[in-house]
Amino acid sequence: MLNKLFGLFSHDIGIDLGTANTLVYVRGKGILIREPSVVTINKKTREVLAVGSEAKRMIGKTPANIIAVRPLRDGVISDFYVTQKMLEHFIKLVHQMPGSAASLSPLILPKIPRPRVVLGVPSGVTSVERKAVIDAARNAGAREAYLIEEPMAAAIGANLPIEEPQGTMIVDMGGGTTEIAVISLGGLVVNKSLRIAGDEMDAEIVNYARAKYNLLLGERTAEEIKFSIGNAIEFENENEHKAILRGRDLKTGLPRSVEISPAEIREALKNPINIIVNGVKDAVEETPAELVSDILRNGITLAGGTSLLRGFADLMTRELKVRVRVAPDPLTCVVRGCAKTLEDFALLDRVKVS
Ligand code: ADP
Ligand code: MG
Repeated sequence: MLNKLFGLFSHDIGIDLGTANTLVYVRGKGILIREPSVVTINKKTREVLAVGSEAKRMIGKTPANIIAVRPLRDGVISDFYVTQKMLEHFIKLVHQMPGSAASLSPLILPKIPRPRVVLGVPSGVTSVERKAVIDAARNAGAREAYLIEEPMAAAIGANLPIEEPQGTMIVDMGGGTTEIAVISLGGLVVNKSLRIAGDEMDAEIVNYARAKYNLLLGERTAEEIKFSIGNAIEFENENEHKAILRGRDLKTGLPRSVEISPAEIREALKNPINIIVNGVKDAVEETPAELVSDILRNGITLAGGTSLLRGFADLMTRELKVRVRVAPDPLTCVVRGCAKTLEDFALLDRVKVS
């Protein structure tokens, strides 16, 4: 009886533990959490002060005793404790949401039901770190925890035919890492992880503003400029899309703003864009010939937030001479891939990291 109840209410969940954003899908309910992978903690006591968007708003604005941490920033777990706290926070949060078993009937179910959890993690994380993530999920209340490599999860979420005997290429460009993979028969045949993605683009905008205008920008400001006029390739009437950079004059120390054009931002983003394009070229070169011909025929799919950079897919199509397209809703591919494996045991069994 109890088992039945627990079974009924147990929320199986899929988690995209991204370098920039964490998404949580709850089986039967959909994606309930989309939050930045940021935690603010008290430096001395290690007490967690805020998680997610609340914590992201504090980046660059914290007093000396408080730090904003992005525990997966580079695609590796730099801070196990903080990662664990973040996971616990999100898993608890979905159980406190209206309609969840824990919120419905605290008397019947005094404990939070223990869910099955599938996590998508950057493929760069080491086996020690993988174990750390599994432990973190278990400590946070997971009954069973499974890991899927991010590019595999992204490809599943993008509905690509990963189990066919044919080459499928996916490039997942997030905040800290770009994952490039060729998949065939449910396995990664080629898998490259670059530590260059959206964060590096933000950093290059900061560098550009400093070098050209003597203007100091915060990384959040740089990201906002990237969202508004960031681009990889010339576009029509681009001169009508100028933006204002607000920062601090490095000579006077006073606030100052300058007008900046899409062409300048394109110039600023050149390096990271080239590194990513060359990384994809290298991966194609490492791919067995039979699979390359599949890729030529089927094209390359992009996922992750950085795939939304204006003109990036078009630039890649031009440079690689293969059709490159952005997956529908690229920011949710990984979590939707994890969600699919919750519905399909056999699939999970084939693609999980053992
Ligand atoms: P991760 O999987 O590493 O957590 P995401 O897939 O969530 O990363 O993507 C986050 C990155 O995508 C950030 O660097 C963000 O600035 C970038 N990004 C999101 N939307 C856009 C956009 N419209 N144009 C350019 N970059 C974007
Ligand atoms: Mg991701």
